[in-house]
Amino acid sequence: MEEHFFQCPYCWEQISMLFDLSISHQTYIEDCEVCCNPIEIIVYSKKNSIKLIIVNKI
Ligand SMILES: [Zn+2]
Repeated sequence: MEEHFFQCPYCWEQISMLFDLSISHQTYIEDCEVCCNPIEIIVYSKKNSIKLIIVNKI
């Protein structure tokens, strides 16, 4: 597991989250810890490093 940061699409605060980089494509649903809105986070990783994080409002 590795910690990464992304911006909340609602309040634009930096949010940190732990990702399992052994999975190449994964989707998480998390509530923003600042504004509590639900965020969909799509993570693409390769060779144990994150290539792309896509963040969507739900
Ligand atoms: Zn937020």
